[in-house]
Amino acid sequence: MAQVELFAQNPGWNQEEARLAALAATAILDTAQEPAFDVITRLTAEYFHADAVLLGFADESRVWIKSCWGEVVRELPRYQSIFDEVLAEDGPVIVPDVAKHPRFAERRMVLRHLEVASFASVPVRSYDGYILGVLTVFGRRPRHKMAPDELRTLEGLAEMAASQLELCRLRGCLHERGLQPVRAAKSNSVNYSGDPDLRAALEQRQFVLYYQPEIELATRRIVGLEALIRWRHPVRGLLTPADFIPAAERSGMILPIGDWVLSEACHQIQQWNHEHSGLDNVRVYVNLSAEQFSREGLADHVEALLMRSGISSWQLGLEMTESSLISDPRTTLEVLGTLRQLGVSLLIDDFGTGYSSLNHLHAFPFDVLKIDQSFVSRMNGGEQPVQIVKTIVELARVMGMDVVAEGIETETQHRLLREMGCRYGQGFLYAKPMTVESVTQLLRLPGRVLPDPGSAERRETEGSGSCELQGVPIRAR
Ligand code: C2E
Ligand code: MG
Ligand code: MG
Repeated sequence: MAQVELFAQNPGWNQEEARLAALAATAILDTAQEPAFDVITRLTAEYFHADAVLLGFADESRVWIKSCWGEVVRELPRYQSIFDEVLAEDGPVIVPDVAKHPRFAERRMVLRHLEVASFASVPVRSYDGYILGVLTVFGRRPRHKMAPDELRTLEGLAEMAASQLELCRLRGCLHERGLQPVRAAKSNSVNYSGDPDLRAALEQRQFVLYYQPEIELATRRIVGLEALIRWRHPVRGLLTPADFIPAAERSGMILPIGDWVLSEACHQIQQWNHEHSGLDNVRVYVNLSAEQFSREGLADHVEALLMRSGISSWQLGLEMTESSLISDPRTTLEVLGTLRQLGVSLLIDDFGTGYSSLNHLHAFPFDVLKIDQSFVSRMNGGEQPVQIVKTIVELARVMGMDVVAEGIETETQHRLLREMGCRYGQGFLYAKPMTVESVTQLLRLPGRVLPDPGSAERRETEGSGSCELQGVPIRAR
């Protein structure tokens, strides 16, 4: 749909919203790399004798690099970026010598290995004029002022990128009208037409994060929170991930939804930090799908989110299941290594349900292992299931990993797990996933220690009324 029409339908939209809609119409952020963009950045580098060239498109928070030359960059935080300068200027920003420039002299500009001394950046616009991205030339040395014909050349190259973008948009329009391009090229582009409800749900902010505490078994003190997505469906009510995550994964919508989850969790941590809600030493874990994991730029994205939200990397953990790792071990190792370097905690979820759990533990740098709830629930059934859990706990200890048992529902499971040396746990026995307001109350409990569920059970059977927080009655102390 043309932006002019969109604007007419949404008179309340501001410029940025219209710009983002124009960007979304191209679907450029969700699709595979366009080889045509690489031709443009290479040409630009050759013409300008540049040390690096980036072509990037900016959403609300990040500049997605769709082609780079010289330095491999996949993503940059948008905050204080060159893109924002170009947007504010509504035109080119040329800085022949960063050190002498009144606005940039204070900032050290580094692009991976390149200390930037000069740059020139021009907008890449949608066909109706919105600045969607920038084409930027970087130099490691100050350069002479850009001559008018040089600037025209750079702008001409940006127009080539814009034309390519317009082709992407038109391709999307064909798709929307149920038409196929004459000769569909083989590409990894994501098809978002599978479940339009999910796209609308995201735009209408119908997704919410619930949080479930992870506790230290010995003390029942909250040591972490797992963020679990829910869909507040206007007709069907509150939906759990099983109702929509499989569809999101099939249609590719898991990528923007996953981005939202990560960004929302970081925002919430920032909020808790700001309110001093007792979040010190509490880590928030976010679940990742295989598709998120295999997309390029995950580590860059996480780094950008950490920088933007100003939270410390140890406050964030990422949970992934074994099945999301098996596709390409080398990439998996590279991505996990980079995330680990950032200081983000890596947790292997549903441990024991995958194909080759031991291999994964050995090969990849996880620091927390989460025992699948199916093992925990079977523990009441005899010696052998207990031995299996014991073996997993021991394995984690040998590997130097923390171990969390999930799906703890009974006091017996709690006791058995403690006896076998499992330090951490999560389950309905302590607290169910709950809204941010409810979990904030729990974080404010003295010492963040949850009430003893034994006493809760007793009080419930005594008819003391319903629980305020699902699974966890709050006692005044
Ligand atoms: P998971 O990561 O293994 O999360 C644990 C699930 O077990 C959660 O279900 C939680 O509510 C449930 N659970 C916790 N304690 C107990 C217990 O004591 N007994 C029982 N029976 N269940 C318990 P939920 O929230 O329905 O999530 C299901 C799965 O959906 C998650 O499994 C995770 O794989 C996925 N998921 C949740 N949020 C996200 C998300 O933001 N992104 C992605 N990609 N996947 C998500
Ligand atoms: Mg999980
Ligand atoms: Mg799990």
